[in-house]
Amino acid sequence: MAVNKLGYVHARVTDLEEAVNHYSNTLGQKVVAQEDGRVYLKAWDEFDHHSVVLDEGGVGLVKLGFKVETNDDLAEYENRIARFGATSERMSKGENLAVGDGLRVVLPSEHVVELYTEIDYLGTETGVLNPDPWYRDARGAAVHRLDHALIGAEDPTLIERFFAECLDFRPSERLITDPADPDLIATWMFCGQKAHDLAVIKGENGKLHHWAYWMEDWNEILRAGDIFSMDDVSIDIGPTRHGITRGKTIYFFDPSGNRNEVFSGGYITGADFPTITWTADQLGKGIVYISREVNDRFTTVFT
Ligand code: FE
Repeated sequence: MAVNKLGYVHARVTDLEEAVNHYSNTLGQKVVAQEDGRVYLKAWDEFDHHSVVLDEGGVGLVKLGFKVETNDDLAEYENRIARFGATSERMSKGENLAVGDGLRVVLPSEHVVELYTEIDYLGTETGVLNPDPWYRDARGAAVHRLDHALIGAEDPTLIERFFAECLDFRPSERLITDPADPDLIATWMFCGQKAHDLAVIKGENGKLHHWAYWMEDWNEILRAGDIFSMDDVSIDIGPTRHGITRGKTIYFFDPSGNRNEVFSGGYITGADFPTITWTADQLGKGIVYISREVNDRFTTVFT
């Protein structure tokens, strides 16, 4: 396990004040730093400095950060990325607030991905010495931590190959057109033991479909739904269960129109986990297992 996790999502929002209200009061993340036109947020159960960075102006993704275990891993990835033919450059400590040296990669899908090993440690709200199981002063939905992201790519096969060959990700599940003539529509990939850390779906290059926060269980998902109603958050799908990953979920939009998800559960994977295949005719069950119906918005709205 050399890539530890999706460490941060850096996105754009149309109105920073509105976004800060949403991400801190409705979702429960804490503002840890602020610059001109930019805020850094972390969730109560995260120990790193931040997991979400928001820039004022526009919508959509600026970049994703993946935390890598060692500098040797980083050097190995740099070689593999060069052999793969993707563009990368070294980034220096301080280019991102609180983040150390690393590698900035432009994927063939035009997404910017940063790989780093060091980020300032702030600690969780419950600490590491005899910790309570949850943070009693958490606000709103009290999301625990950043979990995964789904991005669009014109050629999902190429991006799946990039993450597999360069960064040792494995596909837990794949959505194909038809087993007789398989064309990859989407792939769910993991680097640790979760059902997925990054997913890629056929769509416009450089785009974001959503990023997700981990919740403890179905009750927390339902409670998040209640909070969303109290705060008039725009809902896309749910609460429901995914066939793919078996996670429980609500998809919703931030005030700028970026899609987020609260996600709970999902099975445990590992190096010997056999890839699961879904066919396009079962997309409904794959995404929304209960109603088996996916709205058009879900497959067409990217930011
Ligand atoms: Fe998701």
